[in-house]
Amino acid sequence: MAKTSGKGRVCRYEATLHTRILERLQLHAALDQAITNGEFRLVFQPVVALDTGRTCGFEALVRWLHPSRGTVPPLDFIGIAEESGLIVQLGEWVLRSAVAAAAQWPGPTYVAVNVSPRQFRAPGFVGLVQRALADAGLAADRLVLEITESLLLGDRDQDRIRSELDALHRSGVRIAIDDFGTGYSSLSYLHQMPVDLVKLDKSFVDTITTSPSQYDLVKGIIGLAHTLRLAVVAEGIETEDDRKLLIGAACEFGQGFLFARPMAAADALTWVTAAGSLRR
Ligand code: C2E
Ligand code: MG
Ligand code: MG
Ligand code: MG
Repeated sequence: MAKTSGKGRVCRYEATLHTRILERLQLHAALDQAITNGEFRLVFQPVVALDTGRTCGFEALVRWLHPSRGTVPPLDFIGIAEESGLIVQLGEWVLRSAVAAAAQWPGPTYVAVNVSPRQFRAPGFVGLVQRALADAGLAADRLVLEITESLLLGDRDQDRIRSELDALHRSGVRIAIDDFGTGYSSLSYLHQMPVDLVKLDKSFVDTITTSPSQYDLVKGIIGLAHTLRLAVVAEGIETEDDRKLLIGAACEFGQGFLFARPMAAADALTWVTAAGSLRR
């Protein structure tokens, strides 16, 4: 460790740590302001049926248009927003904007919204979802909430989380497990959960064209998901070979640059109302 390597090392180590902490504090302050200043935008990426290319829905992805840094990707600020609790406010903005956009699309096109664990655990989340849907005039079955395995497997509040998921599910909202396969990967717990679909993480999709054993693994995961009556959306499909192999693995839905990159709300509306919904 740094300590055993002499005094100079320790100082440099502390200096970088200091810079990192400062940078996080600055980002935190800027994030707080960004919500007030309206610096966030949503982009929408089509989720398509792999065989026909028909668009079934869009995933809403947040972008921060920082006045001096340019577009900040979510991985650079979602974690900070989670830690500081700002995710609750930001998440409400994302949810409300996403359902408002979806209300413009022809049914049954759905919108999928990422929900971080802290946001889900915040008091009143179920009520917020219901109010957001009512305010936008969107049917509950046109909303998919993407949660992560960690929410289901954390040791706190399990009964409350379970009953809130049940309430959302009964109201018609669908639940997806995001980044599926990267977490605990225990399929047994999914059996008793009100979950409708899983999103197979891009890291799996990336390996199927080069590794037969990874492809077998992916086929196994998809097969197991189907046994549990879960639909599968594969993430990060970039090539025609990926698409063909996933169809061969009985995967129904997919998302990725092969079909479309995330796009502005106006473009998503054009995409889904014009022949765009049939394009691949
Ligand atoms: P995610 O939910 O797994 O979203 C998929 C990510 O993969 C998106 O990155 C998307 O742009 C990217 N992607 C899609 N297709 C391809 C492809 O073919 N190739 C490659 N290389 N990438 C592809 P993005 O938008 O940077 O989002 C990253 C993560 O940030 C998301 O992962 C999600 O966990 C989080 N995130 C984004 N928006 C929100 C939000 O509104 N709320 C919360 N809580 N998290 C969000
Ligand atoms: Mg997602
Ligand atoms: Mg994902
Ligand atoms: Mg991912």
